[in-house]
Parts: sequence; C-alpha cells; structure tokens
Amino acid sequence: MILVLVETNADGVTLFSREALTFARGLAQGRGDSVEAVVVGEVTDGVRAQLSEQGIAVAHHPQDERLAAYSGAAWSAAVAGVLTSASGDLLVASGTPRGGEIAAHVAARLGVVMAANVLRADGGDPLVVTRQVVGGAALEEMQLGDTPAVITVAGHACDPEPAASQQTTEVVPFTPALSDRDLLTRVVRVEEKTADDTSALTAARVVVGAGRGAGGPDGFKGVLELAELLGGALGVSRVVTGLGWRPHSEQVGQTGSRISPDLYIPCGISGAIQHWAGCQSAKTILAINTDPEAPMVTRAHYAVIGDLHEIVPAINEELHKRLGR
Ligand code: FAD
Repeated sequence: MILVLVETNADGVTLFSREALTFARGLAQGRGDSVEAVVVGEVTDGVRAQLSEQGIAVAHHPQDERLAAYSGAAWSAAVAGVLTSASGDLLVASGTPRGGEIAAHVAARLGVVMAANVLRADGGDPLVVTRQVVGGAALEEMQLGDTPAVITVAGHACDPEPAASQQTTEVVPFTPALSDRDLLTRVVRVEEKTADDTSALTAARVVVGAGRGAGGPDGFKGVLELAELLGGALGVSRVVTGLGWRPHSEQVGQTGSRISPDLYIPCGISGAIQHWAGCQSAKTILAINTDPEAPMVTRAHYAVIGDLHEIVPAINEELHKRLGR
C-alpha cells in the first residue's frame, strides 16, 4: 500500500498534496498497489470530498489533541505509526517544507532511506526514482531498497488530476503513541504572512522574470504589466532583491523560490547557476536579453535579443490589442 501524507489548508487539500496523490495513483497503477491517505489535523467535508475525487477509499486520521498545533516530531510519530500499523510499503509526501520535514523524520524514526524532490518513479521493486539534487541543478537516479520507502514529490512533477473513478472516503481514526519528547518543538503562535508571501509565485503557471537589466527600482513597470496581462507572477534575480529594488519574496533561485511554471520569461537575467537552480523546471523558457551569449539565452527554448525596455512594452501593446483591454 502507498500512503500519501495529505496537507490541508483553508481551501481543503493543498495543490501540492493533490499532485502527490495523483503521482502516487500513477505509481500504484504500475505496481498493482493501492493508495491510502493520512491527514493530521481536521478532516472537513471539503477535504473528504477532495479525497473522494482523488479515488482515496481510506484516510487515516491520527487522534490526539496535542497534534492540533504543528510539531514536526509529533506529526511524524503519528504518520510513522499509521505507516507501520497499516503495513504501508511506501510513504509519499509533497516536496513542501512541511512534507519534507515529516518525511525526513519518518525515515529517521524507521531507519530507512528517504529520497527528496522526486520527479519520476519506475514502479519496480526495488523502487528506482529520478530526483532533483544540488538545488535542482542536476538529476539523480536513486534505488530505494528499504521497506517502507519514503519519498517527497517535487512541486509540479505532475498535474493534479481527479481519479477515473471516485471513492467514498472512509476516515479511519488512529491513536498515535506520542511522548513528551515528541512535543519539545511545536508551533506556539502563527502570524499571517503578508508582504513575504511566495505562494503566488511558486504556484503561478506563468512567471515573468526581471534581473539587473531592469536598470533600477523604477524599471519594473513593463514586466509587472506583462505578468498581469498573462495572469502570472513576477520573479526576480538576487541582484534585484540584494539592491532592494524588489522584495526577497519575489526572488527565484537557490536562495529564493523554486518555480515550475508552464512559461518563464526571464528579462535581463544572465542565468547564473544559482538562478537557474530555481527556474530550470519551467516547461518553456523565453529569454529576453541584450546579450546573445548570456547563459539564460543559450539554455532557453526561445530568445529575443534586445533591450527589455523596448521589447516588453511592444509585447504588452500586442497583448492589449489581442485581449481587447
Ligand atoms: P547579471 O548577472 O548582472 O545579469 C544581467 C543580465 O541582464 C545580463 O545578461 C545582461 O546582458 C542583461 N541586460 C542588461 N541590460 C539589459 C536590457 N536593457 N535588456 C535586456 N537585457 C539586459 N541569484 C539568483 O537570481 N537567485 C538566487 O537564489 C541566488 N542565490 C545565490 C546564492 C549564492 C550562495 C550565491 C553566491 C549567489 C546567488 N545568486 C542568486 C546570485 C547569482 O550568482 C547572480 O549574481 C545573479 O543571479 C545575477 O543576477 P542578474 O542575472 O539579474 O544580473
């Protein structure tokens, strides 16, 4: 059985968990296996409906009031308990900070190997996975000989699809064995993020990038307009955030956000390895740069050579005409 750690938010099952569920279903099909879920925290009607849509017949639900606030160790104890008692042979979590933390704890508790940021899995025995390493700059093939195996799925490794046949999801209570030690670190206060929120950038299907070529804090009008016209988000290089032209929440790269949009349009970004680490999973890259030898240009699927302050307004003008606004 493949057990998927499902993360939830106010809207129900998160996008990344729906991707992990879809990924696990695809893997289960190849192995003739079943997929079950584990949800720590409230299972609302909305969550249950989304799990049904994902074809999940069984959702394990650890019950202990001490799990109400997030605690990496305590939540992992609960997930490891479900995995062991339900005889799961693979735990799949999403490659989010929380998914990664819980998966790592579970693997350490059970003394098994964990593979993070998996893009593909072959479904064989032992399981062989392809995963992103070195901040996404390289791919590694890894064989997981342990049972259970533990993996996290890289963001946007697959599109979240509903199952061919829905299931009525049974929520099965589970009583975890928690020790005081498990609760040493736990969330005691939550402050809403505002300016620093990166969720729009990481979830965007179109990202318009801007680097030093923007020229200064006033050089972003065109790229912001282009992002708006394409229903996307703005992503920038570290030079831009380092110079204080834009907030760090917009930075793409090794020390910023990792993005996997359908389309990335880096404008005036050279494509240093640390930036590339954050954007190489984009399905299509269209670079706009004055330098035809810039690494971003040579690696991009398409490139326009020229000044972004001329090219971007021309694209915007054409988009205005075509979109009728
Ligand atoms: P530059 O390298 O200066 O490139 C500017 C580009 O704009 C050039 O290609 C130029 O031809 C082009 N250009 C100039 N004017 C125009 C114009 N008018 N129109 C069109 N094109 C124009 N960087 C990140 O981005 N993200 C990270 O997370 C990150 N993490 C790092 C971590 C470490 C430990 C280190 C050491 C570095 C990190 N960096 C990161 C920095 C990285 O090495 C580069 O310095 C940075 O990405 C360069 O930013 P840039 O492309 O905007 O600027």
